[in-house]
Amino acid sequence: MKEMPDILWLEEIRKEDIAAVGGKGASLGEMSSMGLPVPGGFVVTSRAFRHFLIETGIEQPLFSHLENLNVDDNNALEQASKKARALVMKAKMPASLKDRIRESYQKLNGGGMVVAVRSSATAEDLPDASFAGQQETFLNIKGEKNLLDAVQKCWASLYGARAIYYRAKQGFDDRSVNIAVVVQQMINSEKAGVMFTSHPVTGEPLTIIEGSWGLGEAVVSGSVSPDKYVYDQRTGNVIDKLIAQKKTEIVSDGEHGTKTLEIGKERQETPVLSDDEVARLATFGKVAETHYGIPQDIEWSIVGETIYILQSRPITTIRSGATSVKTETGEGKILVKGQGASPGVATGRVVVIRDVKDTGSVKAGDILVTKMTNPDMVPAMQKVAAIVTDEGGMTCHAAIVSRELGTPAVVGTRNATSVLKPGQLITVDGEKGFIYEGALEKPAQAQAPAAAITASPLITATSVKVNVSIPGAAARAAATGADGVGLLRIEHLILGLNKTPGWFIANGREEEFIDELYKGIKIVLDAFNGKPVWVRTLDAPTDEFRNMAGGENEPHEHNPMLGWRGIRRDLQSPDQFRLQVEAFKRLWEKGYDNLGVMFPMVSHPEEFIAAREMMAEWGVDVNAATLGVMIEIPSCAIMIEDFIHAGIDFASFGTNDLVQYTLAIDRNNENVASMYQPKHPAVLALIDQAIEVCRDHGVECSICGQAGSEPPMVTWLVEHGITSVSANIDAIAKIRETVARTEQRIILESARRSHAE
Ligand code: PEP
Ligand code: MG
Repeated sequence: MKEMPDILWLEEIRKEDIAAVGGKGASLGEMSSMGLPVPGGFVVTSRAFRHFLIETGIEQPLFSHLENLNVDDNNALEQASKKARALVMKAKMPASLKDRIRESYQKLNGGGMVVAVRSSATAEDLPDASFAGQQETFLNIKGEKNLLDAVQKCWASLYGARAIYYRAKQGFDDRSVNIAVVVQQMINSEKAGVMFTSHPVTGEPLTIIEGSWGLGEAVVSGSVSPDKYVYDQRTGNVIDKLIAQKKTEIVSDGEHGTKTLEIGKERQETPVLSDDEVARLATFGKVAETHYGIPQDIEWSIVGETIYILQSRPITTIRSGATSVKTETGEGKILVKGQGASPGVATGRVVVIRDVKDTGSVKAGDILVTKMTNPDMVPAMQKVAAIVTDEGGMTCHAAIVSRELGTPAVVGTRNATSVLKPGQLITVDGEKGFIYEGALEKPAQAQAPAAAITASPLITATSVKVNVSIPGAAARAAATGADGVGLLRIEHLILGLNKTPGWFIANGREEEFIDELYKGIKIVLDAFNGKPVWVRTLDAPTDEFRNMAGGENEPHEHNPMLGWRGIRRDLQSPDQFRLQVEAFKRLWEKGYDNLGVMFPMVSHPEEFIAAREMMAEWGVDVNAATLGVMIEIPSCAIMIEDFIHAGIDFASFGTNDLVQYTLAIDRNNENVASMYQPKHPAVLALIDQAIEVCRDHGVECSICGQAGSEPPMVTWLVEHGITSVSANIDAIAKIRETVARTEQRIILESARRSHAE
């Protein structure tokens, strides 16, 4: 077998070389081989470290300090760590090795290059184990002497207290753990951060990029709240941005090391990345993910126009069956909300840690609440039942570690350390990102695996549902994790048959029509098992039926939008209505009680009453059925209370029509398109009063028009108390985030108000 050398250049390394160069080194080598823009450099291999231990004779004394160590005894742990590190630092690096490191450094741009020196640990028996952040990195190193010193410090960091603790708890034998050191061109980033190539909890193809000014360490350590960008790999669009207030940046300082600077006011809230940069980064991320065949956690940096990829490692935390607390209204008061960073649910007593020195007071089963977790807290993080932080995002280092430890965590709550009180009993839902008061009685419930794999972890109090028009899209719609279907348009099931309902009736082919409807709707009901699906009765303007067989009998109308469509047509064409009701009835009889029926274009409660009576006549148990209306005509919004008295179970704003009928703007007429304004004050006034009446009567009030897929409108709707929102498939992720953020802000504002009182 070829002997492993002491030094390997990045371009010589492949991922199989992990035992020689550690996870970080192997990944960098592999990345440069696949053409990603990796800064140049070399690795001082694990063999060099082993030689160093043997040739200096410190191997035996070193490991004897670690034998029989009780890592739960903080003092003993600190002492052993101190002795081990001193041994490594005081030993003289063999001259031959020094020479080889010096030579390699000279080859890097003539020896004047500023380098980053990074630890890359590896376990003999489990080489791809992650020791993320347990060992040190030294930035901005210039000159041979500083470089040799930094390499030795990396070696010593293998015996830091937290690293020893972490290994002991993960069951690694200290003797079998090695360390390699990556020496790499230092990139003086203007901006930098991290990227998860797919969602780190659900695995959805959403690339999450966090970035801030200066070196990436600020984001990785969680010392700054970074901007967050979400890029949908399916559509190639930036679907969400959260621009944070970035108060500090880490920059290179002199000959070695870094310093932290205040960021000037003008840059604090300036977005770090343009959409183009997000897309370019996401593309590199995709290349890495495709190459490795598994989602990656990547560090990046940008100088001018140039993107550098600094590190890539697999995300090991994507779950197929995350658990979360299912709360019903009134069960468990939400005290604080943040980002669910590590799934799972835990109840315990709050321990607020303001300084790492205080972690001695942390007991097993506590809930660690702190401004910002950092690697020094790992021993404490290991003991606790859950972790809650004020700062940080999904990709901050602390979030990664808690996921790896399997400890539920909620990060970026902004105010947990002030709202949560020491000793207080709380329940943390690491998937939803909610912190509840007390111990919740309901046990954690497993999500259906298929939904859990792809669903966003954000669960909102306002349900986020999805609109479906084609049964073929049902699986994709369900994969968004939506809370149900807020509008199933059935026109498309029929348009596909290319014959009008009248044709089926006239040709005695009623059964075919019923069967087609039954099968199409059933596909959607099956995809949303246990979740409400509101099926809308037929609503096609006469001009849309014209080209079908039977369309020649459709009347010519001056304005089909104001004509024979929706419930008014069904009431006048009982046969057409009956066929639809027959399909619903058969589905209810089959046990699909998640089916609700929604009537379009209602203008008076009498229409609802008439429709329900007809259904009853045809054998539907209308008291058991869920029946509702679309609010598309101003009269319906204005008379919503009368509709409620008439017995509707829910109402949903069809803003596509509500806008056209309120403003007298034909939704299909481009000459007046600029005047088509869903946020027109008159439309909002109608919606506002209808929501209020529905709330007063405890009736679910939703939206299924296009405005429900637009974040500004959804923010307004949530602020005004809407109970659910139904959006297009592609908009679900951003709408869910909009809803979550708005709810969070409302809770925060009310918490702040009550705090101030
Ligand atoms: C609406 O009017 O907002 C709606 C959802 O219905 P459609 O677009 O099918 O008219
Ligand atoms: Mg409509």
